[in-house]
Amino acid sequence: MSFADLGLSQKVLSAVTDSGYLNPTPIQAGAIPQALQGKDVLGIAQTGTGKTASFVLPMLTRLEKGRARARMPRTLILEPTRELAAQVEENFVKYGKNHRLTVALLIGGVSFDDQEKKLERGADVLIATPGRLLDHFERGKLLLTGVEILVIDEADRMLDMGFIPDIERICKLIPFTRQTLFFSATMPPEITKLTEQFLHAPVRIEVARPASTASTVTQALVKSGSKPWDKRAVLRDLIKEEDEAIKNAIIFCNRKVDVSELFRSLVKYDFNAGALHGDMDQRARMTMLANFRDGKLKLLVASDVAARGLDIPDVSHVFNYDVPIHSEDYVHRIGRTGRAGRTGKAFTIVTRSDARYVDAIEKLIGKSIDWHSGDLSTVAPSDDTQDERPRGRNAKSRSRGKDARGSRLEAKPEKNPQPETAEVPDVAAERRSRKDAIRNDNADRKVQPEQRDRPARNHRRHRDDDDDINTTVGFGDETPAFMMVSAKV
Ligand code: AMP
Repeated sequence: MSFADLGLSQKVLSAVTDSGYLNPTPIQAGAIPQALQGKDVLGIAQTGTGKTASFVLPMLTRLEKGRARARMPRTLILEPTRELAAQVEENFVKYGKNHRLTVALLIGGVSFDDQEKKLERGADVLIATPGRLLDHFERGKLLLTGVEILVIDEADRMLDMGFIPDIERICKLIPFTRQTLFFSATMPPEITKLTEQFLHAPVRIEVARPASTASTVTQALVKSGSKPWDKRAVLRDLIKEEDEAIKNAIIFCNRKVDVSELFRSLVKYDFNAGALHGDMDQRARMTMLANFRDGKLKLLVASDVAARGLDIPDVSHVFNYDVPIHSEDYVHRIGRTGRAGRTGKAFTIVTRSDARYVDAIEKLIGKSIDWHSGDLSTVAPSDDTQDERPRGRNAKSRSRGKDARGSRLEAKPEKNPQPETAEVPDVAAERRSRKDAIRNDNADRKVQPEQRDRPARNHRRHRDDDDDINTTVGFGDETPAFMMVSAKV
């Protein structure tokens, strides 16, 4: 089957041809003809299957008739994260290059004013995260009664992030006669209920979920003690060991607090690293991604949620700083390398307490993963159990560290562990820019003024950007040093 068989308009077909795609993917072949006929679609597909084009292309074709009115968007696409929303916008730019359509992006972390101006001029396509959309609606800047097509993308991710009440509310604000295109990688009961409530006789299109990893990816488990400084040292050794083989790599952490911490540590050790986590403002995230895509950054530290759905080019290496708790996440992570028959390497750092997660992963992928240089039997149990102070050469300076956090306790970085520093002649400037990176990361971790200004509605706090499913308890990793000193009785 070719794109020409799907019923798309000439303008859309010519843009698709220009983008170099020859044949529709299964989700595109299934969804596009149905969407063009105005039917509701329930697409069960994950990112990487070409699902974005499966709704963007028919929408463009259908939008060729009619025009936008002020504050009344004609179509609405809901995305769980800002990056996904921005990525969908890029798709509209790419495939809509022969159209004169106005696309407005309503996401958190950027000013309301510019977004309002765009709404005022009239938008054909509105791409939004649920929180920011409702904020605009409540300010009276938006009418949803003109929406003809509603797309709900990554619905299961919306569920994980607590957006379902917002989605229900938005669905009720849009006319009953609309067309709904609904996409989810999985169908938990809450999502099924949502589809039963808001979709009308949908055509169900299901695309197989990969439960296996590409055979071109070499996978390995790497033993480590369980303390953050142990894991960071293991990671640094691995990166140095792979050295020139690494073209670019993603380092996955389970929690966003660890993303930030690890990023700072890597920068401190002169690695060419960037980070992607939910507390960063939109501009910083987009810059970071662009730098990684352009090859200016070699290592990208990310959480699953921050990286999910992002169209990141094939990478040579994936490092799992943490073993993923959900085994499907392992398959997603590893899927970032070894694409299209290319080779890739995936290393997973494993501590004693990770055994059951590794078992679940091996069960899912149907094979066991080899250990890189010896299994955990060579890691002393005490490494995992005692409240360990770092040992070795720098033990003294480490134990005088300022607080209980691994990064502060770390030894001074060894000199130039990364060969790429040699490529940069102005070492002082490079160092300054690394310091800037950390300063920016610090700033990004502060509450955005827009979040502060929001009315206190508990259930909606951080809904645009909170991608951390593991809530921090108490002080979390920020526990002050004086609280860690044992009391004398
Ligand atoms: P998505 O699942 O929408 O995130 O798309 C994943 C990747 O597949 C993106 O890089 C798309 O540009 C690419 N893609 C989408 N449709 C096709 C197609 N028909 N043929 C080849 N690549 C595609």
